[in-house]
Amino acid sequence: MLDTKRIAEEVKRDIQLCRVQKKDLTGELISALLSKAIMRELIPLHDETVEKQREVKNAYYLSAEYLMGRMIQNNLINLGIYDELKEEMEKLDLDINLLEEVGDAGLGNGGLGRLAACFLDSGATLNMPLNGYGLRYRYGLFRQEFEDGFQKEYADNWLKYPDPWSLRREDRGCLVELEGKKVRAVPYDMPVIGYHTQTINSLRLWQCEAVEEFDFEKFNDYEYDAAVAEKNYAENITRVLYPNDSTDEGRKLRIKQEYFLSSASLQDIVRTHKENGRSLSAFAKYNAIQLNDTHPVFSIPELMRILIDEEGVTFENALDIVRNTFAYTNHTIMAEALEKWDIELVEGIVPRMVEIITMIDAQLQKDLAAAGIPEEKAEGMAIIQDGKIHMARLAIYLSHSVNGVARIHTEILKQRELHDWYELYPERFNNKTNGITQRRWLVLANPHLANYITRLLGSDQWVTDLDQLEELKKFGTDEQVLKSFQDIKQINKQRLCDMIWKREGMKLSPDFIFDIQVKRLHEYKRQFLNALAILDIYYCLKDKVIADFTPTVFIFGAKAAPGYMRAKAIVKFINEVAKLINNDPEVNDLIKVIFVTNYDVSYGERLFPAADVSEQISTAGTEASGTGNMKFMLNGAVTLGTYDGANVEIVEAAGMENNYIFGARVEELEALKDYDPAALYEGNARIRRILDTLIDGTFDDGGTGMFQELYDSLLKGASWHDPDNYYLLYDLPSYIAAKLKVNKEYKDRMKFASRCWMNMASAGRFSSDRTIREYAEDIWDIAPIEG
Ligand SMILES: *Cc1c(COP(=O)(O)O)cnc(C)c1O
Repeated sequence: MLDTKRIAEEVKRDIQLCRVQKKDLTGELISALLSKAIMRELIPLHDETVEKQREVKNAYYLSAEYLMGRMIQNNLINLGIYDELKEEMEKLDLDINLLEEVGDAGLGNGGLGRLAACFLDSGATLNMPLNGYGLRYRYGLFRQEFEDGFQKEYADNWLKYPDPWSLRREDRGCLVELEGKKVRAVPYDMPVIGYHTQTINSLRLWQCEAVEEFDFEKFNDYEYDAAVAEKNYAENITRVLYPNDSTDEGRKLRIKQEYFLSSASLQDIVRTHKENGRSLSAFAKYNAIQLNDTHPVFSIPELMRILIDEEGVTFENALDIVRNTFAYTNHTIMAEALEKWDIELVEGIVPRMVEIITMIDAQLQKDLAAAGIPEEKAEGMAIIQDGKIHMARLAIYLSHSVNGVARIHTEILKQRELHDWYELYPERFNNKTNGITQRRWLVLANPHLANYITRLLGSDQWVTDLDQLEELKKFGTDEQVLKSFQDIKQINKQRLCDMIWKREGMKLSPDFIFDIQVKRLHEYKRQFLNALAILDIYYCLKDKVIADFTPTVFIFGAKAAPGYMRAKAIVKFINEVAKLINNDPEVNDLIKVIFVTNYDVSYGERLFPAADVSEQISTAGTEASGTGNMKFMLNGAVTLGTYDGANVEIVEAAGMENNYIFGARVEELEALKDYDPAALYEGNARIRRILDTLIDGTFDDGGTGMFQELYDSLLKGASWHDPDNYYLLYDLPSYIAAKLKVNKEYKDRMKFASRCWMNMASAGRFSSDRTIREYAEDIWDIAPIEG
C-alpha cells in the first residue's frame, strides 16, 4: 500500500516552504501539493497493474465523455488515507474542507459521462482489467450563470491550474489523419484508483496537437497566421466538449473529434496487443471494447482499416475479429439523439472510412438477403441510407452485444425502436441496468450517513458490497434509528443551505421539505411540468384551498444546451416563477423556489444527501435509465416519478408504498389517439390560469417572445412536433395530486422517514459494482486480477 508517512512528510515540507514564501494556501494549491506527492507514489503501483494486465484479457471503455468531478477527495478516500491526511493537515492548521474549492473535471454533459466515471471507479475497485479512453477537452462543459434569469454560458477553463492528476505520455502518442493532414494524438493518463485495493487502472485522454507546431519558413516570409495554422487546426479538435445532451448536432468538428478518439484509441489497443506478443487472429480473445453510445463508433471501421490496410488481414477475417471485439450500449430511444452523418461530410474528413463502411454495408445487405429479409425492410436497416451513415446500425451490425441501460428501456428497444434488429440477432440484445458508485455518492458525499450505516452494520464492507444495505431494512420501524436518520438529513440540509447561501445568496431553512429536481434541462425531462405544478400550488395556497401545507422549497439545477432555445426559455420561466413566489410575503413561509447555478458533480454531492423528495418526472418511455434517481435513493429520499427508466426498478426494489408514482405509462401513451391538449386547457380553469401567465404579462421574458413560444409549444405545436408532445398537460393533474400527497404524508414524520430509510436500504442493486460485474461476465468475459 501507499506510504502515507512519506506523502505527509513531503506535503508538510512543501507547505512550510509555501508559508515561508508567503504564498496563499488555497484549496487549489494544497490539492496540487497533495496530488503531486501521491502521484509519485502511485506510478510504481500503476506499473504493477499494467504488468498484470498484460497476461489477461482486457476490457476498454470508449467514451467521448467522462464527468469525473473533483478528483482529490475521492482519490484520498479510495487510497484509504483521507483520515490520516486530514489529521496531518489539522496539525498544520489547515482544514481539509479547503479542498472543496477545487474545480471539477467536467469533461461530460450529464448522465452518460457520469456513468463512465462511475464505471471506472467500480472497475478498479473490483480489480478488473478495465481501462478508459476519452478526449482531453481544453474546455469542459460550460459554466452557467444567470443574468436577469437568463442562462449565460462561460468557458470552463479547468486547466487554469495544471491538472495534477494527469500524466503526459509522450511515448504513447500516435498520428491520426484528418482531411489529408496528419495530427498528433498525445495521451494524458489519469489514475483510476480502486477502493482499498492495489489496482490502479487508467483513463487515457487524447489531446490533439500539431506535428509541426510552427512553420519557420512561413514566419520568415511574414505569413504569421499561416505559420501557426497547423497548430490551430490540430488544437481546435480537442478544444471544447460539445455541450449537447441527448441531441445530435451534425457538425464537421464533431465528426473529427469522434474519429480522432476512435483512431488513436484503436491504434493504441492494437499496439499494446502486439507488444504483448500476440497475433491479430487472437485479438478478440484478449480485447473487449465497449462503445458508450454511438460517439466512438468509428472505432469499428477504424479497426477494420488497421487490420486490412496495415496488418494484411482479409476483409472476412477482419469482420469476425471486429464483431467479436465490440459491444455497443444504447442510451436513448429518442430520434433526435440518434447520430446520422452526411456521407459527403465524412468523406471529406476520412475518405477511407467511407470506403470501409460502404463495404460493411454491402456485406450487411448480403446477410439480410441470406436471412430472407424482404428488400423493403432491408433498406430501412441499411447503414448508409439517403446519403447518411447511421451510426447505431453500424454499431449493432458489427457488435456481438447490444445493451440498453434499464429493463424497460431494453424492452422498448427490442419491441419498438430496434425491433427489426432484435428479430435478426435476438442473442445480441441484453440489459445492463445502470448503477452509481457508492464511494462517491455516499461515502464522500454523505459522510454522516455512511458512518452511521457502518455503525449499524458493524463493518464497512458495504462500501464494496452494497447489497449489505438490505440488512438495514429491519430498522425500518425502529424509532431510535429513524430519529438518528432524520438528524443526519437535517445536518445535510443545513450543509446545502450553507452552500446555497454562499453561492446563490438565498437564505433557506432546513425545516422545509427539500423537493429537488437536478439533471440536464430537456423537454422530455419535464422541468416545465414541475414549474407549472408549483405555480398551481402557489395560486391554490393564495386562494387558501390547500389546507395544512408543510413548508417546501422546490430546488432546480440544470444546464440547458446553449443552442436549445426552448430549454433556455424554460430556465427563464422557472427563474420568473421563483422570483414571483419568493417575493410574495403572503406565502413566503410556506413555499420557496430556487434554481441553483451551475449544477455539476460537486454541487450534486451536496444536493442528493439533502433531499426529501427526488423528482424523476420524464414522460414515460423517454428516459433510458437515469442515474440521478439512484443517487437520491441511496441518500434516503423518496421518488416522486413516472413509471419510466430505472424508476421502475427502484420502486420494485424499495416498494411502491414507499414512493410516489404518477402519470401515464408507456402503454397508455401508445394507445392514446387524438390527444388534444387545447381541450384540456379549455376545460380546466386551473390549467388556464397557470398557462396564461406565459402570455398575460404576469411574467416578463425580456421581449424575446420565448414565453409565447412555450405557450404555443403546449397548445399549438410547431412544424417539427405536435402540441404538448411530452404530455405535460395530460400528466399535470395526477402530478399535482402526487405532489400534494407527498406533502400531506410528510406530516407523519416517522412514517416518512421510514419510507426514506427503506429506499436507502433497497439501493444495493443500483451500485455500479453490480453493473460492472454484469458487463464483465456477460459481455467482456474478463475476470478480476487477484493479489
Ligand atoms: C448523475 C448526474 C447526472 C444524471 O442525472 P439524471 O437525473 O439521471 O439525468 C447529470 N449531471 C450530473 C452532474 C450528475 O451527477
